[in-house]
Amino acid sequence: CGIIGYVGPRDARDVIISGLRRLEYRGYDSAGIAVVADGRLSVAKKAGKLANLEAELATVDFPVAHQGIGHTRWATHGAPTYENAHPHVSADGRVAVVHNGIIENFADLRAELTEAGVHFKSETDTEVVAHLLAAELQSADGLIDAMRAVVARLQGAFTLVAIDVTRPGEVVAARRNSPLVVGVGKDENFVASDVLAFIEHTRDVVELGQDQIVLITADDITVVGFDGQPAETARYHVDWDTSA
Ligand code: GLU
Repeated sequence: CGIIGYVGPRDARDVIISGLRRLEYRGYDSAGIAVVADGRLSVAKKAGKLANLEAELATVDFPVAHQGIGHTRWATHGAPTYENAHPHVSADGRVAVVHNGIIENFADLRAELTEAGVHFKSETDTEVVAHLLAAELQSADGLIDAMRAVVARLQGAFTLVAIDVTRPGEVVAARRNSPLVVGVGKDENFVASDVLAFIEHTRDVVELGQDQIVLITADDITVVGFDGQPAETARYHVDWDTSA
């Protein structure tokens, strides 16, 4: 339902939690966060309100990180439980993914992965993406190529945002039939389902078009189409009042 991803000098957890709070008005049933710090992936998630996730974060040793993703879920496939909350992590522990929308052909993909020996932890349509992305990253030339290979296999509507423990400082995102915007900051960049998620940090926005993928680092933004070609993007400045 609500998504934010961040790369930059601030504590990713603060940016992500405040971004998710800005998206709370949309409604949701669970919330979660994943960050990469010191070569490790850390994930926290909770059914229920964002306050539950914050309470959880206060009790665990959650690292200061400069790269991460967050999600508030509105369940479509699988009950609003801890296991079904996003982020979803690949079996090898390498990749974490959040998703808005519905992957229509997830049952076929899940059957194929199960056949190949993958053990699923959730009932979501989303988890297939974590396993597919991890598999592609074994041979792909970077996160954009791996994401391109994954989206080629998906049907339905999705905004996907992912991090890879072996690629610190990078966040990849993709969209089809579901919104995705990039917040362009100074020495930091954001991706989100809605500009409200990062409006307190930047009002310079790149709106992704249909069937596009973006890779952000702290100082760079690369956008390509699902076909791999460099994509035209429209950049604009948000000047409406968001104090409400
Ligand atoms: N279909 C996914 C799920 O049920 C994502 C739902 C959403 O957009 O929040 O977990």
